[in-house]
Amino acid sequence: MPDELLSRLRRFNTDYFPQYQSQFKDLVEQGQHPTTLFIGCSDSRLVPHLLTGAGPGELFLVRNVGAFVPPYDGMLAGARALDGGAPLREGPRAPEGNRHWVGLHGTAAAIEYAVLALNVQHIIVCGHSHCGGVRALYGEVPDEAPNLKAWLALGREAALPVQVSEEALRRTEERSVVLQLERLMDYPMVRARVERGQISLHGWHYVIEAGEVHVFDVNLGHFVPASSAEHSGTGPYREHAEEDSPLFNEIDAAWAPRSGS
Ligand SMILES: [Zn+2]
Repeated sequence: MPDELLSRLRRFNTDYFPQYQSQFKDLVEQGQHPTTLFIGCSDSRLVPHLLTGAGPGELFLVRNVGAFVPPYDGMLAGARALDGGAPLREGPRAPEGNRHWVGLHGTAAAIEYAVLALNVQHIIVCGHSHCGGVRALYGEVPDEAPNLKAWLALGREAALPVQVSEEALRRTEERSVVLQLERLMDYPMVRARVERGQISLHGWHYVIEAGEVHVFDVNLGHFVPASSAEHSGTGPYREHAEEDSPLFNEIDAAWAPRSGS
């Protein structure tokens, strides 16, 4: 049986690499200086480099199920609150003593690294239509997938108390993007730079079948197709807005979050 992956690896080396060899040489010698942290869903139909036209060295990518952002304080108490109080398995003991880390969060580590070491200027959270992670918020997750079950708690607040429908799923996908942006603002190094104007946040919802990204506009309170948008998307807070006035619940009062938290 022909090894398709091997032939693709060889094609990369012989056909693609020569075209970009000097670019990769610079990126090795001078190091990477990506300006953008892209947090996207793992979905195979989401291709960040196609959407943004980015080449090597431009995007620092983090991908996970649902394009979720874990809480900055990954302690047990925080995770319990997110999961509606359900007990979660405890991780190794934290240095402080009586608190416990619940898991090792690659996504949180990547956010800290992108902001503190790479000094990115943009952070994009990109969800998409027909997201399996968001759909799973409305169904049962098998017991043999305890990590997936725990991870989905990060999107639960975006779920709507309605019968699942395609419309509800699209709304939930959009609401989840805003929810993750809000959680991103709990990272002190992100919040400080956003407030100083050094980092801009961008909420995106990629509509696969239309081939278009809809960008979040906090002033309008909803997502706008890129073709008619005046900017590449905003974060969840208006400039100079009060700290404790998240707009998440103001997008559409009729679609109040299930948990109310
Ligand atoms: Zn997805």
